[in-house]
Amino acid sequence: MRIGILGGGQLAMMMIEMSSNKHNIDFLVVDPSKNPPASKYTKCIKSEYDDIKSLDLLIKECDVVTIDFENVPSDALRYLEKHIPVYPNSKSVEICQDRLKEKNLFVQNNILTTNFKSIESEKGLRDAVKEFGSNSILKSRRLGYDGKNQIIIGNQDVKDIWIKTEGVKSIIENKVNFITEVSLIGVRNIIGETFFYPLVENFHKHGILNTSIAPFEDHNLQKEAEIIHKKITSAMNYVGVLVIEFFVDKNNKLIVNEMAPRVHNSGHWTISGANISQFESHILAVSNLPLKKIKVMEYSGMINILSKMPDINKIKKVGVSDIFDYNKSERTNRKIGHITITCPTKKLLLEKIDTINKILY
Ligand code: AMP
Repeated sequence: MRIGILGGGQLAMMMIEMSSNKHNIDFLVVDPSKNPPASKYTKCIKSEYDDIKSLDLLIKECDVVTIDFENVPSDALRYLEKHIPVYPNSKSVEICQDRLKEKNLFVQNNILTTNFKSIESEKGLRDAVKEFGSNSILKSRRLGYDGKNQIIIGNQDVKDIWIKTEGVKSIIENKVNFITEVSLIGVRNIIGETFFYPLVENFHKHGILNTSIAPFEDHNLQKEAEIIHKKITSAMNYVGVLVIEFFVDKNNKLIVNEMAPRVHNSGHWTISGANISQFESHILAVSNLPLKKIKVMEYSGMINILSKMPDINKIKKVGVSDIFDYNKSERTNRKIGHITITCPTKKLLLEKIDTINKILY
């Protein structure tokens, strides 16, 4: 079995590391950058994602293609799909690339999401700001992640906001006064069997994920989130890991924020904290191998390393499960590694996270 991956970032790197030897799977990665993290474990073709020669090579050499990030051109996925299976399919990826399409899917499936409106002109923005008020956010429909391409409306002049957007299509949505944020990682195979990890609680700084803690022990929310996940994956005929991010409001209701058609930063803890990692689960699903029922025994945490690698010895002394270095160049707020911790009690886990955050930031 050989799997092609579009994107050779840290997610591809961990998918390969966690499954290659264990399941005797080869990989072939396409990535436009010079030495992407996945090149540590496999051959990476340096090319744009829509380069026909590279796509033809994937068709010739691979049994199936998957992705490590959602912004691959959907035309490239559609081209591949004519010849070999692509999981998740182009339709799912196309929906997840565009906040408006994503929101429309939630609404069509009676899934609670933030109030929103599509914005395509300065006049549209002006009318929407009147309707939504200052406590709202403008988000570009595409290429928005880690809080990028988002503008808090506040008391800014509409003309200034419109200039900042450079006229790109956006959505406006109400700011949610949430109690916390959680995500659900689920994996679905070709015949529609789905397995779930427990909900993860996520803490962001400046719109970027800082810490994840699992399990978030709320039986009712877990059930509710799984129902939502199943509705979405069956609507899209989805195969692989899909992650849904939610706000939990003051009435303990789940409000969907967005979703990712891939393994996710909030699931890195599964490498040491679960019987099977999200990376291996995804690879089993896209290879049409039997999925494993997911078991989690202890409490796990994940802390992102942003901007600069810390003194590893200081981190090791705290007693951690793993420290991942993506071998990426240091840049302000860039995710360049992460730390995972697994503990028998939540109290001990929170203490360790606190100590590590003090070393890092
Ligand atoms: P996103 O890129 O949409 O996931 O946004 C990144 C983070 O910004 C979220 O995880 C929240 O912490 C915050 N955020 C985004 N949208 C909203 C919203 N409508 N209300 C409150 N906080 C938000």
